[in-house]
Amino acid sequence: MNQAKSNHQEIPTADALPGQWLGMLGGGQLGRMFCHAAQQMGYKVAVLDPDTDSPAGSVADWHLCADYLDTEALKQLAQKCKAVSIEFENVPAETLSRLAHDTLVRPHAAAVEIIQDRIREKAFFIDAGVEVVPYCPIRSSAALEQCDSALFPAILKAARFGYDGKGQARVANKQEALLAFREFGEVDCVLEAEVALASEASVILVRSHEGDITYYPAVENRHKNGILAISISDAFAKYPNLEHQAQKAAAAIANKLDYVGVLCVEFFILEDGRLVANEMAPRPHNSGHYTLDACEESQFSQQVRALAGLPLGASYNKQAAVMLNLLGETWLVKSDNDQVSTPAWEKILAIPGVHLHLYGKSEVRKGRKMGHVNIVGDDADQVYERASAVAKILHLDL
Ligand code: ADP
Ligand code: MG
Repeated sequence: MNQAKSNHQEIPTADALPGQWLGMLGGGQLGRMFCHAAQQMGYKVAVLDPDTDSPAGSVADWHLCADYLDTEALKQLAQKCKAVSIEFENVPAETLSRLAHDTLVRPHAAAVEIIQDRIREKAFFIDAGVEVVPYCPIRSSAALEQCDSALFPAILKAARFGYDGKGQARVANKQEALLAFREFGEVDCVLEAEVALASEASVILVRSHEGDITYYPAVENRHKNGILAISISDAFAKYPNLEHQAQKAAAAIANKLDYVGVLCVEFFILEDGRLVANEMAPRPHNSGHYTLDACEESQFSQQVRALAGLPLGASYNKQAAVMLNLLGETWLVKSDNDQVSTPAWEKILAIPGVHLHLYGKSEVRKGRKMGHVNIVGDDADQVYERASAVAKILHLDL
């Protein structure tokens, strides 16, 4: 009897099985790569995005072209899909809570709502026992006038809707901060001390609805003009004691949020060797794109598994990897007059271990993420050599 009972408990169940529909809110490149992973496993994907021409909408099995708060579209999505997730954090939390009446929504609205607002996000990190850089919430110019002058030089960041360094201003003193605050339209902000960074790293984890967690090894991230340029797997080779600390911090955050899905926590490594959390993303992350070619299971197939309630896959690196982001500049490199030319793909693809990923965006713009290149190899030296050759051909800095 006991034997039968325990066997019964071990039978895996799932909330959505291959052949059934999964829903994705957002039509960007992260949604596109989710579609590819889900479709490979036999799922059908419905994407809700208001744009008629979007990277994910164009590969989805069904593109609902509607506003995120369109009642009819949400009804149709919930009816069709066993479970729904997001590919960018600014989907209205109300959309998630409305959908949750009729279908599974992972991650849940309350977790996403915290991540949407830097003021709440930072307070949450602190509550979870995770250190952040010194900061002050700014909801009025009076708050700025009263803030601690020791925060300067500082960065004023709009609390909501920032990405790729947008909605941020570097400010040397209160006067400059006040000007920037006015320029932002006096929206809620955080004022953060600008700290000297030894390095930046991210931890991507996947948490199941049962609370199981699997981690990818931390990734080192290098930014240019506030936009991620390069990610290098195995970030903490130089700081081995930080890997466990970063994973523990990310897990504390995910558990406290009762998070289900892929979560990325961005960290700063300060010059004194301390690790502090910067921000988090409730979805796969640009710094995890290397997992598509270097890992047992990519961050997107893990997103599918967590969403569908399947057992999580293994997330170790099978190979060393570097990811180079491809921004619009790569297409505009030859001219100053914004003429578009096709990069020399045939040359980079002649290098071993090079994998090209393009997002199907028709319009090239400076700073727009158009794709990425993953370069894999046996070890860090080999990958770096290959990545240098790719960077040279594409006129990228490495
Ligand atoms: P975004 O949402 O645009 O990614 P982040 O807060 O991550 O915003 O800032 C983008 C980048 O700017 C960071 O990855 C880091 O390189 C730099 N940065 C942000 N905050 C600070 C800070 N307090 N001190 C020094 N550099 C910072
Ligand atoms: Mg960031």
